[in-house]
Amino acid sequence: MLLSSFTIRQKLIGLVIILTLGIITTSCLAFYFSYQDTLTGKKEQIRNVIQASSSQIVFLNRQNNAGTITAGDWEQRIHDLIYNTQYGKDGYIYLMAKETQVYLHPKRPDLEGKFLEDIEDLPASKLMIDGFKRIPHIQGSAQFWKFYWPKPSGGPAIAKLTYAQQVPDSDFILGTGIYLDDLTPLYIKRGLSYFSITLAVLFAAIATALLIAKNIVNPIINLSSQMRNLSDGDIDQTIKYTEHRDEIGQMANALACFREHLIENKRLRYMHEHVQFLENFDPVTRLYNRRAMGESLEREIVRNFESQDSIYFLFIRLDLLRNLTIELGDDQRDHILVETANRLRQLLSINHRLARLSEGCFGLMLINKPEDTDLEALITSVLNTIEKPIKLEQLHIQIAARIGVTQFPEDGDQQFELIGRAEIAAKTARKKEQGWMYFSQLREQQVEQKMELWQDLSSAMENDQFYLVFQPLFDLQSNTPKSAETLLRWDHPKHGPISPAVFVPLAEQSGLISRLDHWVLNAVAKQCRQWIDKDITFPRIAINLSGISFLRSDFETKLQEIFDTYTVPLSNIELELTEGVLIEDLARIQDKLKRVRETGIRISIDDFGTGYSSLSRIKNLPVDHLKIDKSFIDDLDVNNQDLKIVQAIILMAQGLQLKVVAEGVETERQLSILREEKCDIVQGYLLSRPLSVSDYEALLDEDLIIEG
Ligand code: C2E
Ligand code: CA
Ligand code: CA
Repeated sequence: MLLSSFTIRQKLIGLVIILTLGIITTSCLAFYFSYQDTLTGKKEQIRNVIQASSSQIVFLNRQNNAGTITAGDWEQRIHDLIYNTQYGKDGYIYLMAKETQVYLHPKRPDLEGKFLEDIEDLPASKLMIDGFKRIPHIQGSAQFWKFYWPKPSGGPAIAKLTYAQQVPDSDFILGTGIYLDDLTPLYIKRGLSYFSITLAVLFAAIATALLIAKNIVNPIINLSSQMRNLSDGDIDQTIKYTEHRDEIGQMANALACFREHLIENKRLRYMHEHVQFLENFDPVTRLYNRRAMGESLEREIVRNFESQDSIYFLFIRLDLLRNLTIELGDDQRDHILVETANRLRQLLSINHRLARLSEGCFGLMLINKPEDTDLEALITSVLNTIEKPIKLEQLHIQIAARIGVTQFPEDGDQQFELIGRAEIAAKTARKKEQGWMYFSQLREQQVEQKMELWQDLSSAMENDQFYLVFQPLFDLQSNTPKSAETLLRWDHPKHGPISPAVFVPLAEQSGLISRLDHWVLNAVAKQCRQWIDKDITFPRIAINLSGISFLRSDFETKLQEIFDTYTVPLSNIELELTEGVLIEDLARIQDKLKRVRETGIRISIDDFGTGYSSLSRIKNLPVDHLKIDKSFIDDLDVNNQDLKIVQAIILMAQGLQLKVVAEGVETERQLSILREEKCDIVQGYLLSRPLSVSDYEALLDEDLIIEG
């Protein structure tokens, strides 16, 4: 088993147990050795006493043998010697004559003169006699015995240690002994002091362990559990021990730092989610926004492409919302929108997707429309729900709505076609004061009315009925022409000049638009070549291009081919794309824009503000100019709301290093406001109407400067 599989607390307890056992064992061993030492010391003492007395007896014996002292003196001196020898309180000394006759025994004088075998109360006499008889043979060596014997003062037999030795050159045996229980108080005293030292050391060890537990183990355990909580996502706890100045404090501070990172991470994730939310949802109604709707429509189209199963799209336009907003203010407007969104939500089923597309416009997509769903009944209930009065603070208001309906695949197979055409149908419904309208009806009507135009359109290109005009754009810093937007004109043989506002949508509906765009690109390239040949320096030309042409996969190759034919560098050209194109899948559109820009061409976003391009979306797109839609410029001098929007767009564009163009400038007042707001470029009838080629050439020749 690995040591690491135990917790720190278990390890600490283990250490304390081992220490305790170690301390107790050491104390016991120390006590045992000290006991042994005491015994050895006693033996040494006894031996010394016997040795000293023995040599004195030898000395007295010699004097007696030599006749220096009398037998009486000898006897007296031997007696004095034995009786005066010091021994322990319960010890004794004796002098035994040969053949085990007790000669002198100061503790038991009654035994003197008796033979051991005659002493009746001597239970071990046999053993003793054998022992004594062996002593002469082990001459000179100390002889200890341990056996049990009652004390001289009587009582039960207790353990005692005896020593006996033969006195050299005589028949005497000198012996002594000590009762072991005499040592007991000493041992108790010593044992007690060992015990208290052990207790003190144990106490110190346990106190140290507790101190370690409190200062190291507990903090580590707590920090580890805090770390576990952090990784489980609990970042609200405050990290303890950060004030410690040791390694625990360092760990705690590192953990606190980790927690800060987690909080920062969470904040970033929240922000990211919020940005993602804004990318896909409308913050006011919390419905999908135009982009998300476009994507989901695109997905459904892809899914149904093979089967050609129908998808219906309803463009729901609230009437007059913009005017209401000016009168009621933003909060009331939001209230109306939220209320309407909530009512529409109630009508939804699994087959519906609802989105807020722009200011007062909602979109409703029907997928897998079951056979029995009555589309017209649904439309009627949508209109009825919206028209129910809405209660505002002071008043009830009633809002009307118009609905335009498109159907895949009949009305288009691109999401922006379906949405855009449904919008056209909704607008037409309003013009005709109808509640709702199918786009196909519109087409039928248009077919009736404009069949002729349509047919003419296809031959117009061959018959040279198109031409280009140029409207200059002025830089507000230098007050000189910055570029020119080229606008298409159709000189109809019967109806005279027709506005592109009329025939471009026709061309889009009939599939002619790509040919038309191709014609324009070609005409611009040709025009540029003529200017170059005539040595006319001209500023960049901006070309309006339909999304359908732009999104074709071979667009950039075709573009390059056309301009290569006339050897005109694409750096002379700018493309104007409407916001509808940007609703495409972000990665795809980024890639497309990147590839197109690699040809040297510039990109500008036309009619900005009318669609639903979010700030974060524009930020991710490689574009050069933003053209604020004419509708915001129109009322700039009277409508504070529009002014605010224009200010916001300019501010945002500056942050993104984009140049801002204001189109449709018609009055001096508008121009001066735009100057104040630091708009970069302006375009409009005030400065110049769209000009024919010759007029434009004359203008370039003039070195025109607008008044600052
Ligand atoms: P747009 O791109 O927004 O072009 C600006 C339109 O506003 C032009 O109308 C221009 O003549 C007009 N305009 C410019 N300044 C003023 C002003 O101060 N006041 C007013 N009231 N109008 C002004 P136009 O030429 O009728 O073009 C209409 C739309 O047709 C254009 O809108 C553009 O979307 C489309 N279009 C024009 N030329 C082409 C083209 O060559 N190809 C394609 N695909 N679309 C084109
Ligand atoms: Ca334009
Ligand atoms: Ca425009």
